Amino acid sequence: MPATSDPLAEFDYGAVELTGGPLKQHYDRIHAAYLALDNDRLLRVYRERAGLPAPGAPMGGWYGRDGFVPGHALGQYISGLARIGRTTGDASCATKVAALVDGFAATLGPKDQSFAAPNAENVWPCYILDKHLAGLMEAYNLSGVAQARDLVPRVFHGALPYIPERGHDRVGKKDPPYDETYVLPESLFLAYELTGDRALYDRAMAYLLDRDFFDPLAAGQDVLPGRHAYSHVIALSSAGKARLVLGDEKYLRAMQNAAQLLASTQQFATGGWGPNETFITPHQGQLYASLRTTEDHFETPCGSYAAIKLGRYLLCATGEAQHGDGLERVLFNGILAAKEPDADGDYPYYSTYGAEARKVFYPRKWPCCSGTLVEGVADYVKNIYFRAHDGVAVNLYAPSRVHWQERGANISLEQQTDYPLDGRIALRVTLAAPVEFALRLRIPAWLNTTPSLAVNGKPVHAELERGFAVVRRRWAGGDTLECDLPLQFRTEAVDDQHPETVALLCGPLVYVEQNPQKGEAAHVIPQALRPATEAQGVFSAPASNRGRTYAPFYFVRDETYTMYAQHG
Ligand SMILES: [Zn+2]
Repeated sequence: MPATSDPLAEFDYGAVELTGGPLKQHYDRIHAAYLALDNDRLLRVYRERAGLPAPGAPMGGWYGRDGFVPGHALGQYISGLARIGRTTGDASCATKVAALVDGFAATLGPKDQSFAAPNAENVWPCYILDKHLAGLMEAYNLSGVAQARDLVPRVFHGALPYIPERGHDRVGKKDPPYDETYVLPESLFLAYELTGDRALYDRAMAYLLDRDFFDPLAAGQDVLPGRHAYSHVIALSSAGKARLVLGDEKYLRAMQNAAQLLASTQQFATGGWGPNETFITPHQGQLYASLRTTEDHFETPCGSYAAIKLGRYLLCATGEAQHGDGLERVLFNGILAAKEPDADGDYPYYSTYGAEARKVFYPRKWPCCSGTLVEGVADYVKNIYFRAHDGVAVNLYAPSRVHWQERGANISLEQQTDYPLDGRIALRVTLAAPVEFALRLRIPAWLNTTPSLAVNGKPVHAELERGFAVVRRRWAGGDTLECDLPLQFRTEAVDDQHPETVALLCGPLVYVEQNPQKGEAAHVIPQALRPATEAQGVFSAPASNRGRTYAPFYFVRDETYTMYAQHG
């Protein structure tokens, strides 16, 4: 049940499992990749700082002793593994989390010094403290690592000499220190709730960006242009948590206005935003211009993680399906479509939406996006189902299972579908004796027909509430709810100044032209596309349009692609 009067609540990690499809494939690869990280290598920079034996090769890149943010992602790797372990029941995740927490604790010393190198404590203390606190809390909550709870206040108090009294916005700041307090209040509030330590609460309050960001957003102002994109979207998670702790609805208005501004003025068809990591000034054709002036269109793992967290906060607070639409868009075309990392620190960072592009690694190893990639993929299970007061809301369509209790009865719901390549979805209920509850299905805004719904093969009428179709009945074991959301091609303009420059979409997916001919102008005729024979989800244009082929952006591996084309 939602703990508050909010319409929806998240399920715990253990309640949902992925059973197939592209999300599970991605999840399984990320699970294996992060489980394989070498503990000694991860701890080396911390052990060196403490003067302890430090076996293992240096990590290098951002993470190393002389790197951009030494030791920055340890807490995020711990968070990601704790979440995956809780969801999958893979005990090796909890074992690894416990070993990393133990190794980290041994480096703290008498002053509880948690920063791995001078560059960490001088330039990035708030950014890194946030990751440490979140990792420790999740090690305790999700992996049962008892000492992690005791480390939360120790690490916080040990960091106090290095962190500022108040938060500050880094707008326009191009030189170090770049430190970011933006999402830290969310972790500080959670740490306060876990430990009762009032100092954590006080510092959370001191770091909320009310005056610079949340207050003007809540008043309906567009304060996004020029700001660092990821930092300010992840800051909205602090607003989401502040609303729950403080009960102040201005934080909800700030989040709603920001989400509306992102969707209507900042985002590409993928749901990504922030070319060169900066919000554009609307109505000047700047998204279009950026297609030619940069290859750095969206900081994909970090940005997707921030946007999806915002989407979940808003879904829970409002129960409105539009927030699920936005979440779905950036999940399937952002984080799911990011390049696969290799085993030695090469990671995706920017996605490129210009012509004849390729998916590439970030030039420096172990960037910020290596931390948010595992957190974001671990959260796939969080985005599919939500608990309502009278049942369950299905937000994402993906082969999966959810377990919950309704009126004391154990219920499980199994979803079978080939979504996002096919719009047909079947939800099968398993329970011991009939129970009345409501199933809510998000009806995406991109759907331009009436969805058809049937229970056990018989059509049913469903009321639409806040964009969800509601089927309320006395469910018996084996009952199956079927839904068809027909997928059709459509186009979306890159911005309001360039209506003829469009991306091709089908259902929730952005399609790109694969292996475009060099130097040739791209143009697309959506209604002329036909399924190609080689693979489900791939489409071909007629010979008159050179037989170009189009595939979902998440299909792309090493081939070139073009996302935006001229319409017609
Ligand atoms: Zn990043």
